[in-house]
Amino acid sequence: MEGEAGERVDLTLLRRHPVASILVLLCAAGFLLASPPLFAAPGAPRVSDIRAWTNEIYTRVAIDTGDEVSWKANLLAADPARGLPPRIFIDIRGAGIRDEIRRKPVEVRNGLLRQVRAGRFDRDTVRVVIDLERESSYRVFALPSPFRIIVDIDGEGEVPVLRMSPDAAVPSSEDPATLPPAIAPSVAPPTTSAEPAAPSAPPAVPPSVESSRVAAAPPPTARKPRVRVMIDPGHGGKDPGAIGPTGLKEKDVVLAIGRRIREKLSRSVEFDVRMTRDGDVFIPLEERTAMANKGGVDIFVSLHINASRNRKAEGFSTYVLSRGASNREDLELAARENGVPLRELQGVKFIIDDMFTGARKNESLRLAKTVNDAIVRHVSTRYPGVQSIGLKQAPFYVLVGARMTAVLVEASFISNAREEARLRDPSCLDGIADGVVEAIRYYGQNGILAHSGS
Ligand SMILES: [Zn+2]
Repeated sequence: MEGEAGERVDLTLLRRHPVASILVLLCAAGFLLASPPLFAAPGAPRVSDIRAWTNEIYTRVAIDTGDEVSWKANLLAADPARGLPPRIFIDIRGAGIRDEIRRKPVEVRNGLLRQVRAGRFDRDTVRVVIDLERESSYRVFALPSPFRIIVDIDGEGEVPVLRMSPDAAVPSSEDPATLPPAIAPSVAPPTTSAEPAAPSAPPAVPPSVESSRVAAAPPPTARKPRVRVMIDPGHGGKDPGAIGPTGLKEKDVVLAIGRRIREKLSRSVEFDVRMTRDGDVFIPLEERTAMANKGGVDIFVSLHINASRNRKAEGFSTYVLSRGASNREDLELAARENGVPLRELQGVKFIIDDMFTGARKNESLRLAKTVNDAIVRHVSTRYPGVQSIGLKQAPFYVLVGARMTAVLVEASFISNAREEARLRDPSCLDGIADGVVEAIRYYGQNGILAHSGS
C-alpha cells in the first residue's frame, strides 16, 4: 500500500528514568521538519481523533493529525499543592483541533491513566494532556502516512517476558550471522532442507526444561499460566497487501493461515490464542501492537506474504524488529508492509526503544529462527525443494513497541507464479500453520512465563 507522499519517518524517543528526575531525549527530526504555519490556517493539519488502548500496566495513545505536524512532548511531575497528577503533554504547532475532541476528554481511570484531554494551548499550539494516575515511564514517536503521534506508557517498569532458562541468555546482536543456536524443533529437520541464507549455527540443543522449572520456581500447586498468543494476519479491508500474478491477495491468504494457526494451537489448553483480525477489516499497524500489549500477550506473530519485482524471488523468511535493514530488498519490504514510500525509511534515524524491545530481542530472534525452520520443514513435506531465506531483521512498524516476543513471517512470494499457486493449496496453508504452531508450542512449553499473569 502506497502512503501519502512527502512525509518523513519520525520515530522520536522520550523516556523518563525512575531515578533521574526527567530525561528527555528528543530526536532532532521532530524539530527539523519544515515549519508549518504558526496558526491553524484553513486546510492545516488538525487533531482529528485521539485513540487509546489501556490496561493497568500499559497504555498506548494515538493522536491522529493526518498531515505531518511539528510537535514536542514533555512530562510534568505531580503538583499536590494544586491537586494535579503527573501528566504527559504533547504540544502540536500549527494544527487545528476537531471540536468534539476539544469538548470531550477520553476518560480511563484504570490505575495507570486518568484521562486524555486536548485543547488549544495558545494561538499556535494544540496541547494534548495525558493525566496519569502515577508516575510512569513513557515514550513518544510519530508514524507517517497518515501522520499520527503515538505515546506508549509503561506503568510497570519491568516488562513481562517469556524467558528461556537463564543459561540460554545470549548477548544482544543485530547480526543474524552471530545468532545463538535456534531452539531445537521437536522433529529433526530433514538434512536435504535447502537453507542458503540461514545462519550457520552449531547443532541446536534445547535448553534444560528442568533448569527452566527451577528458574520459574512456581509453587508446586500453582496452575501453570496459559501462554497468550496473538496472531496478526497482515493488511485487510481497503489494504489488500501484495497481489499475485493471477490476483491472489495477501490479505486473504494470511487470514486463512491465521485461522488455521488459531484452530490448531487452541487444541492445547495451555494456549490462549487471539487474533488481531478475524475478518476482512483494516486495522492500523499501531493498533495491532496495542491489542497485543493490552492483552498481556506473550507471543506475537504477524503473518505476511512477500513480493518482489524479481518474479523469480522465492522462499520463506521470518523477521524481527531492527532499526535498519541489511539490504535494499528488506528495506523495500518494510516500506511496503509499513504502507509508506521507500524514502521514508532511507536515511532516517529510526530510533527503537530498548526499554520495550531489548529485553525480548533475543527471545524474538530464537522464535523467528524456530518458526522459519519449522515452516520450511512442514511445507517441504508437501512441496519438495522449498527455499528458506531464513532469519532476517528490518524496521517493521507493527513490531515497534511490542512488549512481548514478536516476529513477522513472510511466508513465500506471492509475486512468484509457482509460489502463488502453492498459496492457493489448502495443504500448503496447513503446512505453514503447522510450522508456526510447532514453533510456538516448543517455545511456550520450554519457556518460562516470568510474569504473574492477570
Ligand atoms: Zn504484508
